[in-house]
Amino acid sequence: MSEQAILSEQTIFRNAKLADGSLADLFVTGGRFRAIAPAGKAPPADFAAIDPADIDLSGQLVVPAFVEGHIHLDTSFYGDAWRPHIPCTNGFDVRERVAFQARNLAAAAPMAERAENQLELCIGNGSLAMRSHVMVDASVGLSHVETILAVREKYRDLIDIQLVAFPKSGILSSPGTAELLDEALKLGCDLIGGLDPASFDRDVNGHLDVVFALAQKHGAGVDIHLHDGGALGLFQVEEIAARTKALGMAGHVAVSHAYGLGDIPADALAKAGATLAAAGVAIMTNAPGNHAFPPVAALRQAGVTVFSGSDNIRDSWWPYGDGDMLNRANMIGYRSGFYEDRELEAAFDVVTHAGARALGLADYGIAVGASADFVAIPAQHVPEAVVAVPKDRTVYRRGKAMARVGKMLGVSTSH
Ligand SMILES: [Zn+2]
Repeated sequence: MSEQAILSEQTIFRNAKLADGSLADLFVTGGRFRAIAPAGKAPPADFAAIDPADIDLSGQLVVPAFVEGHIHLDTSFYGDAWRPHIPCTNGFDVRERVAFQARNLAAAAPMAERAENQLELCIGNGSLAMRSHVMVDASVGLSHVETILAVREKYRDLIDIQLVAFPKSGILSSPGTAELLDEALKLGCDLIGGLDPASFDRDVNGHLDVVFALAQKHGAGVDIHLHDGGALGLFQVEEIAARTKALGMAGHVAVSHAYGLGDIPADALAKAGATLAAAGVAIMTNAPGNHAFPPVAALRQAGVTVFSGSDNIRDSWWPYGDGDMLNRANMIGYRSGFYEDRELEAAFDVVTHAGARALGLADYGIAVGASADFVAIPAQHVPEAVVAVPKDRTVYRRGKAMARVGKMLGVSTSH
C-alpha cells in the first residue's frame, strides 16, 4: 500500500467505553484520532465518503496503550531455557548479581532472539512504548547496544523504544566505561544511565559528573538505577535533583527504584517529594516483591511523576515478570493498599499517562490528534480493569489490530 493510501486510510471504532464512562465512536484517519464523538452520532462530513473500515467495540473499555517504562531487553531469558535463580551468598549484592548474570548470559540463546521474545510479550499485552536499559561495560563493550539497536529498528513500526546506555558494572570502577557510554549515545541510545553512585562506585560526585556531562554533551535524558536505601539513597536522590535543576533538565531525568524513598520518615519523604517535583525528576518503581519501594500516592500527591515498568523478566536478578503493564498496575495498587476507585485509577495512571510524561511521549492518549495506539479491554471501567486484569484484550497500533489475548496477530516487522 502506498504511503498516501495509508495516510488516508480511515476506520470507525464504534461503541468504545471511555475512561469517563461515556460511550463514544472513534474516527481514525492515517493512524491518528481524527474525531471522538458520542456513540451513534454522524461521522465527520468527509469520513463516510472514503468507505472506512467499521469496527464495533461493543462497549469495551478503550484506554491508551500502556507504557513499559523500565525493562532490560538484553538480559532476559524469556522464551529461552529456564535459569534457576542463584541467591547472593551474603545478602543482596549488586556486584555479585552482575557476576551471576555474566555466567548465565554466556550460555543463553542469541540476544536478538531473546529481546524479540520479550518485545512480543510486551506488545501482546498492550505496551506500545518502552524504555529499555542496555548494558554497557568493559567486558561486553557496545555489543549489547548494537544488537538491541538493530532489534529496535526491526520493530519500529510496532513499538516505540527508548534505549538507555546502562553502566551495569559501574563507571569509575570499570575503566573505559565512560568512553563506551559516550559511544553508545553516538550510536543511538537516547538516555544515559547510572548505577548506585555511592555503593557501587563509592563516589557520588564522580559518578554523577560523568552521567550529567554526557547527558549535556548529547542532549540526552538521564535514568539512573538507584538501589541504595535509607539516608544514603535519599542523599543521592537529592544530589540528582540538584543537578537536574541546575542544568535545566526538568522532565528529562528519572531515578529508577529509588528504594531509599520507601524507608525514610514521613517528614523526610515530604521534603524529598517537594524537591523532586520542583526539579522535575520522575521516579520509576515496579512495586518490587519483599522490598521497600517509593510510596506512590504520597509522591503523586507531592506532584512527582511516578511511572513503572516490568524491570527484569526471567533474568539473573529474579524469575518474575510477565510484560503486562495492566498487571503491573494491579501490583502497584495491591502493594500500595489501594482500594478506592480513585486509587485504582491512580495505579492505572502510573502505567499510562504518567509513563507517557516520564518518557516525554508526544501524541499520547485517547484524544483528537493523538496516535491511535490503544487497548480495548472487556471491563466496565478502569478500576475493574486494574483488579480483574482481563487477558482477552485487543491491542491497536495506529488504528490497526496488532495483538489479541496476548498474541501477535501475524503482524510482520519492517524486515
Ligand atoms: Zn533495571
